[in-house]
Amino acid sequence: MTSNVPALIAYVDAEQHYVYANQQYCERFAPQRSDIVGSTVSDILGEARYAIAAPLIDKVLQGEAQTYDWEPFPGVWQVVSYVPQRDAAEHVVGYYVMGTDITERKRAEARINALNGELWQQVHALDRTTRALRTLSAGNRTMLRARDETELLNSMCQAIVTAGGYGMGVIWYRADDGSDALRAVAECGRRGALKLLQSVTVSCAPGEFGAGVAGVAVRTGQTSTVADMAADPAYAAWRQHLSGFRSALGCPLRAGDTVIGALTIYHGEPDTFDADEVTLLTESADDLAFGIATLRAAAEQQRAQATMYRLTHFDALTGLPNHTQFAAALEAAVDTGHREGRPFVALQTNIDRLREVNDALGFAHGDAMLREFAERLRAAVPEGAVVARLRGDEFAILIPGGDRAAATALALQMDECLALPFGVADIPLDVSFKTGIVLFPEHGATPHDVFRHMDIALHQAKQRGARHAFFDAQRHRDQPIRLSMASELKRAIDGDQLRVYLQPKVDVRSGRVCGAEALVRWQHPQRGLVPPLEFIELAEHTGLIKPLTEWMLESVLTLSRDWAAAGRALPIAVNLSARNLRDEDLLDRIRQQLARFGTAPGLLELEITESTVMDDAEFALGVLHGLRGLGIPLHIDDFGTGYSSLSYLQRLPVECIKIDQSFVRDMSSNRDSAAIVRSTIDLVHDLGRRIVAEGVETQAHWDQLASLGCDVIQGYLVSRPMPAADFGAWLQGYSPLPGSPTAAARA
Ligand code: C2E
Ligand code: CA
Ligand code: CA
Repeated sequence: MTSNVPALIAYVDAEQHYVYANQQYCERFAPQRSDIVGSTVSDILGEARYAIAAPLIDKVLQGEAQTYDWEPFPGVWQVVSYVPQRDAAEHVVGYYVMGTDITERKRAEARINALNGELWQQVHALDRTTRALRTLSAGNRTMLRARDETELLNSMCQAIVTAGGYGMGVIWYRADDGSDALRAVAECGRRGALKLLQSVTVSCAPGEFGAGVAGVAVRTGQTSTVADMAADPAYAAWRQHLSGFRSALGCPLRAGDTVIGALTIYHGEPDTFDADEVTLLTESADDLAFGIATLRAAAEQQRAQATMYRLTHFDALTGLPNHTQFAAALEAAVDTGHREGRPFVALQTNIDRLREVNDALGFAHGDAMLREFAERLRAAVPEGAVVARLRGDEFAILIPGGDRAAATALALQMDECLALPFGVADIPLDVSFKTGIVLFPEHGATPHDVFRHMDIALHQAKQRGARHAFFDAQRHRDQPIRLSMASELKRAIDGDQLRVYLQPKVDVRSGRVCGAEALVRWQHPQRGLVPPLEFIELAEHTGLIKPLTEWMLESVLTLSRDWAAAGRALPIAVNLSARNLRDEDLLDRIRQQLARFGTAPGLLELEITESTVMDDAEFALGVLHGLRGLGIPLHIDDFGTGYSSLSYLQRLPVECIKIDQSFVRDMSSNRDSAAIVRSTIDLVHDLGRRIVAEGVETQAHWDQLASLGCDVIQGYLVSRPMPAADFGAWLQGYSPLPGSPTAAARA
């Protein structure tokens, strides 16, 4: 029965002799023997197998049942049990052996183990692919969200660590100085690692510092991996910085045709990146590079737009809003003005004689002056006001909500802010300006009208010689009349409506009248006596200044001839305009006239304003020499309002400098004016010229000027301009002023 059981069965006594063995047992262990009863276990099993069985046999003979798997023959597996047999006294007298062949089971187990191993490997690989996929998709989400490059790089590194589960992600950029250096620009994975990464040398050139995955990726444009940084000689240079990371992967970041940097991923396990994973991570890096390029393009476009906006809305020199932007602000102000019944003030300010500054000091200094002017203007305006540079020397200001009071306050504020001299080229420069003021809505209800009236108000200020002027609608309505005035003026010149007025000049030291200035007046049939300020500009603009000046010259020369005949040899000065200097036959005409009237040299003088001379300095110099060649003493008028340089003044063939009335007027109240008068007098004397002060209205002015050494004085204090016919009588009755030497002698 035991031989029919599919198991190996035997009984062994305490001396390890077989007492019984079934057929299977014998076939397995002693196939060549017919019977094994009586043989020892060690005989039958053989040395090697007995060595395995012996310790277990010892135990079973001590009474402990034993079970074990063993492989008695190659490829044959058995599970064997030893069960002790006891006698009545409980002594172990032998043991049963029961063996079951488990070779099939063992084979299946091995197969399952192998399958499990394979499965594990596949799962592991899947895991790697999955982490790469997670990185890829998290990276792409990042791309959609990031608003700027830094944010993109940082969140990409973060995705590598948090979504991908890698140890560390780093992004490297090529240095922008054209060297081969690589610089870490973003990192995630180790707190504070970016600083450390930035302190180590990494390069994309071949060699010690270019052997890492970042360097290789940038150099070759290919993704590269390192299985174990701790062992790989490529990482010798950074061995102490690896902080436990073993494997590394570097993907190039490609923007167009160039590699701009690399994305590197580090992990604590060695040899962790497999082929699929590398493909996916390379794709991720490509997406990142695309994201970078897109953001850069967007940023570039934004910059271009900002530049365009700046160029089209701001003045490059002063940084102020430009004409376009001011026009838009004005339009908006008119809009809200109408809708909400809100007033506003618009002002236009022009710098006087900017051209002369440019000519005299050069454009760089002219520019510096403009910038400072803009700066001060900005400081002067109330909050919320718009200050713009329209063009050249023209500035504009808009005060939303402002009314007449606000405009007046600003005008005063501007006077204060702009009064101090400008430090241009180390010269304290007085900059004068004119402002035209327009109130919305009373002076203009459309942007067009406001703009136009700003300009007109400014001209009105100029005409009146005022620093500020509100738009004067009445005067403006006169404009068409003023135009028809041009033809009237022409008739006036031909038709004997002009008058010569004379204003005496007095020699300060002698107290005697030493000459007179001829000033034109228009005896208008309806409007009465019109002062020159109201028609000289018109004459200049229409070309009528030429016949007007000729009329003056002829009148003055006639007068001079009459005076000479009466034994009164006093020089008379005639004013020339800029347009007169441009007149090609000016010299010939004057030469002819002098000859025709037989005028003695020196009796006709000419006054030319400093600004006229400075308008085209070289040209003017030629004309002045021509006039001087005719024996005519020349005077520079309104001196101090232009910007003639000392060296230029020295070259001018002039007798006299007439210091401008504005300095004389302000002399006693303004220390700067007093200083200018004093230094001008000294300067002019140093150059061997004489100085005339005009606009002298008070005795105090006279005294001050006299003490400063001024040569000649002209002004209301001596006399207002009078009709030429009255001059003789006036002169007869003139007694030198108190304080002058002559007066002292008489007293
Ligand atoms: P200007 O050549 O500077 O003439 C001096 C002006 O100052 C004159 O004004 C004169 O009346 C004024 N004036 C003289 N003393 C005083 C004073 O003490 N106080 C004040 N406040 N003013 C004083 P006017 O006659 O109105 O002439 C104005 C300007 O018109 C002249 O300035 C000159 O540039 C121009 N002008 C006058 N006549 C002629 C002319 O025949 N030809 C040309 N081209 N311009 C002329
Ligand atoms: Ca004059
Ligand atoms: Ca003058």
